[in-house]
Amino acid sequence: MVGGGYVGLVSGACFAEFGADVTIVERDPRKLEALNAGRIPIYEPGLDTLVSSNVDAGRLTFGDDLGAAMSDADAVFIAVGTPTRRGDGHADLTYVYAAAGEIARAARTDLLVVTKSTVPVGTGREVARILRQTRPDLTFDVASNPEFLREGNAIDDFMRPDRVIVGIDRSGPDKGARAQALIEQLYRPLMAIQAPIVLTDLETAELTKYAANAFLAMKVTFINEMADLCEKVGGNIHDVARGMGLDQRIGSRFLSPGPGYGGSCFPKDTRALTAIAQDAGAPTRLVEATVAINEARKTGMAERIIAQAGGSLEGKTVGILGLTFKPDTDDMREAASLPILARLHEAGAVLQVFDPEGMEAARALLPENVRYCEDALAAAQDADIVVVLTEWNMFRALDPTRLRSAMRGNAIADLRNIWSPDLMREAGFDYRSIGRP
Ligand code: NAD
Repeated sequence: MVGGGYVGLVSGACFAEFGADVTIVERDPRKLEALNAGRIPIYEPGLDTLVSSNVDAGRLTFGDDLGAAMSDADAVFIAVGTPTRRGDGHADLTYVYAAAGEIARAARTDLLVVTKSTVPVGTGREVARILRQTRPDLTFDVASNPEFLREGNAIDDFMRPDRVIVGIDRSGPDKGARAQALIEQLYRPLMAIQAPIVLTDLETAELTKYAANAFLAMKVTFINEMADLCEKVGGNIHDVARGMGLDQRIGSRFLSPGPGYGGSCFPKDTRALTAIAQDAGAPTRLVEATVAINEARKTGMAERIIAQAGGSLEGKTVGILGLTFKPDTDDMREAASLPILARLHEAGAVLQVFDPEGMEAARALLPENVRYCEDALAAAQDADIVVVLTEWNMFRALDPTRLRSAMRGNAIADLRNIWSPDLMREAGFDYRSIGRP
């Protein structure tokens, strides 16, 4: 497994749990040192136990030497990052192609090279070209196996997926038979639980991942717009969402309004898809609108907070509950909190923040004089307004009376709808949430 980040570490550990011998190759010395010392460099529920039990069983090891890791490998997975390339919205494939080059140099014959990273259509073929060019002596297969796990629920998502997508290049002499057999062997435990395994060509697999993420981003954006409409015309967005979601063609999940989607996937994948589609002369206008609406929403959220605080935040204290893009992760990549807090800071607010897992990663990304607090009540202490940015369960359980007495003011902007408007008003708050009366 090349790359020991959220995807590489979780999938590597899960393949080991399925019985494979896995070496995760990670080039970041800090992460590698942690892994070799038995520490998990990211926060993902259950991952520590899964990793340690597989390390103890001798099925999972870590290293930085790809050549050594591949000396006996049947398959190698590329699970490196594909962030947005500066300037044009396309996915930056530098890490993928660098990994392909390293793999080519270390490869032995009959290797299966699988791309797990989210990559534009055509990347699998380019990986094959790099391998062929570097090592004309080898026979090898390439496959695309995009990952659909969600941070915070990653192990369960990997172990009990809605589906597994595998694109196989069938242009070789055995028409991909060996590659398919190896993939089926790796995923056998999932076949045993009847998880659908969708076999496609490379391009279809690559596009399916972007299509799925773009659709989900659109679903979130749609409900966000409906929530805005509820605020103008009346109606409760949760009942609207429930009423919509009971229609099985729509489905009830991913219909929660909020401050705009963020995270390490939706923003970059929607941008990449629109760039791919524009280049191909088949622009995806729904996705383009989604990207624009979501960007504007985050700034709009900051303005909404400022308005609730009486039109100015100059010298006021704002308590922030939650920083990560969603609960149960420490991932701060493109979290909605980042542009929102930047704007509040610019408006003169004193920011007191608390997040159970995200504060370490946030320090590098937030304005310098932000105060990092040890719990939610400390973040709310003497605050004029408290803002909920991530729906961590621990915030749901906060006692409104204690929250009220910690604060100086009584304004709450709950951008995740974690509390009951009635209860919060009874507790004396000027409570505003998203899309609810
Ligand atoms: P990440 O940044 O957490 O991890 C990537 C890791 O690869 C880093 O630790 C980096 O040091 C390492 N790396 C890069 N080049 C390397 C090399 N040549 N050799 C060894 N290690 C190398 O990224 P991630 O969140 O795990 O995402 C990886 C890919 O999976 C992306 O394409 C992403 O879009 C996709 N994906 C992510 C998620 C998610 O929830 N994070 C879900 C599905 C798909």
